[in-house]
Amino acid sequence: MTTFNLSQQLIDLKREVLKKVADNFRHVEEVSEINTLKVLSAMQRLKVSDAHFKTSTGYAYGDIGREKLDELFADIFCAESALVRTQFVSGTHALATALFGILRPNDELVSLTGAPYDTLQTVIGHAHPSKGSLKEFGVNYRELNLVDGKVDIDAIKNFITPKTRLAMIQRSRGYSMRDPLTTEDIGKICAAVKEVNPNCITFVDNCYGEFVETREPIEVGADIAAGSLIKNIGGGLAPTGGYIVGKSDLIELSSYRLTAPGMGNELGASLGTPRLLYQGLFVAPHVTAQALKGAIFAAGIFDGLGYVTSPLPEAKRGDIIQAVELRSAEKLIKFCRAIQAFSPVDSFAAPEPWDMPGYEDKVIMAAGTFVQGASIELSADAPLREPYAVYLQGGLTFEHAAIGILSAAQEILAE
Ligand SMILES: *Cc1c(COP(=O)(O)O)cnc(C)c1O
Repeated sequence: MTTFNLSQQLIDLKREVLKKVADNFRHVEEVSEINTLKVLSAMQRLKVSDAHFKTSTGYAYGDIGREKLDELFADIFCAESALVRTQFVSGTHALATALFGILRPNDELVSLTGAPYDTLQTVIGHAHPSKGSLKEFGVNYRELNLVDGKVDIDAIKNFITPKTRLAMIQRSRGYSMRDPLTTEDIGKICAAVKEVNPNCITFVDNCYGEFVETREPIEVGADIAAGSLIKNIGGGLAPTGGYIVGKSDLIELSSYRLTAPGMGNELGASLGTPRLLYQGLFVAPHVTAQALKGAIFAAGIFDGLGYVTSPLPEAKRGDIIQAVELRSAEKLIKFCRAIQAFSPVDSFAAPEPWDMPGYEDKVIMAAGTFVQGASIELSADAPLREPYAVYLQGGLTFEHAAIGILSAAQEILAE
């Protein structure tokens, strides 16, 4: 696999696509400039220093690096507080920590974006029984169905009741063909919720959305948001972890669930990770832009080959995911194997569909990544179900994303 002999058809298509999406690329670069300045000025104002990169051990009381990173995330997200930890094993863990931290027996939780992401369904436990779920703790749940892939904003006023404690809003598409939400959409949804019940907590699953636009959920009315550090905001350097940002009282409740009541955010050793988290945050706007360019390019190539893509090449984007309906399991597997074969790590491995913990259908994943499963790195995954859509995301560099995408296209054309 050392040579990369692209067919003339794909060489021509590549040139055509790059010309067609030039304005979209320019927009992505402008957003990245604004977000880079946002991060840089926060680091200046909060006086980030070499001293914050020192490691801590044991209980890690008074770890100034941990405290400063929380402040930095809060500042960048325009939130009162933040909890940024490598002790979160993933995005799902950060989201579940907030839900379990805030909700109490008999509280009502709702999803306003239809069925939530697969792993959150396991956390909630209503669609299918799951041990240790919110359902087992007596949390009630309802979801508002999407209409034509869009949030039914008009229906929110009859759906939210004075008793609804928390409304979940998922920014990214997840494993579905619906559009991701823009921050403008999130603003409208939050306003609709608050109009009926000002006390209902608006909670955004922010996975894959960070730095795609110049504003984040808290700025448009969300009370709390959470996500993964091995997606956009870790910049490809964070080795693991998650974050929660939002109102101080909600972050405090979440912190008691992460550690223990009474301990909260005051403990947690960094074990050598701080510089990677700070540096990852610093490059995250740029890396997110690289991933976005890869997504736009993939849309252009596969649209050009006659496949349904979502979003379309020139659409406004709310996350870094590119879905392509490949319409058969064989093509799905071929696509993922090509992405894996053109990865810097484990390029010799051939991904197989498997029963991944937390997911209902078999899932195939290509992730030849430096950080295991990091989907800010070029990766593709798909549950094996209709319409056999592959979800492509990431790319630390656009150059690498383009190579992977073209190789996947070539494999599928060779059928
Ligand atoms: C990635 C993701 C999550 C969390 O998944 P982890 O693999 O646990 O980090 C949650 N919601 C959405 C929409 C996601 O894309």
